Amino acid sequence: MSIACTGIGVSGRRRIAVGRAHLLLRGQVEVIPMEVPKAELDNETDRFRRALATAQQQLRQIRDQIPANTPSGIAAFIDTHLLMLEDTAIADATVELIRELGVCAEWALQVRRDELARVFDEMEDPYLRTRKDDIDHVVKQIQKVLLDQHHDSAGDETLSLEGQVILAQDLTPADTILMRHQGIAGFVTEFGSPMSHTAILARSLGIPAVVGVRHATQYLRHGETLVVDGEHGVVLADVGPAALAHFERRIRQQEAITAELSKLVDRPSESVDRQKVALLANIELAEDIAATRDSGAEGVGLYRTEFLYMNRQQVPDEEEHLRAYREVAQGLPGVPITIRTLDLGADKQLDGGCPDSNPPACNPALGLRAIRLCLKEPKLFRPQLRAILRLSATAPLRIMLPMLSHVREVGEVLTLIEETKAELRAEGIPFHEQIPVGGMIEVPAAALAAAAFARQLDFLSIGTNDLIQYTLAIDRIDDEVNYLFDPLHPAVLRLIQMTIEAADDQGVPVSMCGEMAGDPRFTRLLLGMGLREFSMQPGSLLEVKRIIRASDLRKLQRQVTALMRKIDSEDVGLLVDQLNHEAA
Ligand code: PEP
Ligand code: MG
Repeated sequence: MSIACTGIGVSGRRRIAVGRAHLLLRGQVEVIPMEVPKAELDNETDRFRRALATAQQQLRQIRDQIPANTPSGIAAFIDTHLLMLEDTAIADATVELIRELGVCAEWALQVRRDELARVFDEMEDPYLRTRKDDIDHVVKQIQKVLLDQHHDSAGDETLSLEGQVILAQDLTPADTILMRHQGIAGFVTEFGSPMSHTAILARSLGIPAVVGVRHATQYLRHGETLVVDGEHGVVLADVGPAALAHFERRIRQQEAITAELSKLVDRPSESVDRQKVALLANIELAEDIAATRDSGAEGVGLYRTEFLYMNRQQVPDEEEHLRAYREVAQGLPGVPITIRTLDLGADKQLDGGCPDSNPPACNPALGLRAIRLCLKEPKLFRPQLRAILRLSATAPLRIMLPMLSHVREVGEVLTLIEETKAELRAEGIPFHEQIPVGGMIEVPAAALAAAAFARQLDFLSIGTNDLIQYTLAIDRIDDEVNYLFDPLHPAVLRLIQMTIEAADDQGVPVSMCGEMAGDPRFTRLLLGMGLREFSMQPGSLLEVKRIIRASDLRKLQRQVTALMRKIDSEDVGLLVDQLNHEAA
């Protein structure tokens, strides 16, 4: 019998995928206390030791398969877990508990985990307290082997992920790094919302995904064939041959559309009335260079640098920053690369290395995030600034500041940049004196005061993912409230329009780099609002270019001005649909 599960569809270039499910169990493993007869206890301890050895082998394989250009801290993170697997505090103590309590290995391990967690909970140092997560990680790894559930194998040589649909509770940044270019067909997660990092990743990989599918890992089974419909947010299992043929036909249709779009790569991004619209790429890692080149992007409008800091014990040093940025600059020679400075906090948590700057926050999205964290922790920020400035001597880089809410923050960063330049000058290190410094408008306060920001900065870029989150007071990663996430909410549209107008008045370029910029449903609306620079995941760029090339921007501007007047009383969605269906 077919099973259909629904969630939130996410799709980039491709909308449908068919592939075998590959279960990744990252979340809670269900463990039940089972008594083991005395005569069986030796077998049980052997079973535990074998599981321990398998878990070590899995981790070593993952470690060996980390791509060469992955930040070195990720390997260190795995090394720590390997050391913990060897530690007597886990290995020997669990064996003793199996014998002492007469219980199965899974439960003994859980008891040991709880004992260790209590010790960590009592520690005063907040950093050491958070290390409890490492214990959980390692314990889960062994429990999964014990439970004979399909173990994590993002890096397992024996199991290729090529063509498979990843099925997981959620995906961590470390998973995403490892899976990035393994040719997965799609993914399905139990958690997540359209603007979560997982969803953004799916779009940037150009693969279909359905996120927020409750209990997906219970209803869908490892190894069965799944159809992932990222357009409608549906996952189907156990479908018959006729339905399968239907979806395969749709995949072929998509491939034909992609082939057609690829003819636009070298065509200018210019409207019917010959206005230029700049199309740039959003990237996260050097691995995105190829897709950026293939899309014909004019440069990088948003380089998210958070990955350099995640899942590691130490913060990256200046040389590591420099290596990462140089690789991107060399891969995309001569085009502008907008490096967004560290945007950690909220959904993008640091997993180590910065004890003082990462205390538990009640409301992390409103807390010490992004530029706030950088200004509080110059030791995090300065190496990044120095590296960007050093590379600016030879590459056309731009600095972009995330989550600005107060113009005072711009002043503080500009001072820090001047101090860093003075340091480099004193050391005789060349840099670009006039490196452009821009800021993201992603907090309503910044949009309302956009003119003041425009006066201080060389360019603005609208981050709609956060702008919508903060305007509508909904956590962008909370799937309970994602039904309220609405790019067409009149308040959001007004803030976007105010930002574009303020930047135009000040003669400062303004771009958009939130997901809205890469969503073809909004292209004509944004063009009509006067936006002339879009930055998006490379997979969407050609579709957006196709729409631009078929649009008359003067006409659109008149239509959208009328639409903006009506937005209080009418359904904006319908008006936008109308706009999209009218001929250019
Ligand atoms: C945004 O908020 O729109 C944005 C581009 O930044 P991020 O998604 O990385 O927070
Ligand atoms: Mg943002």
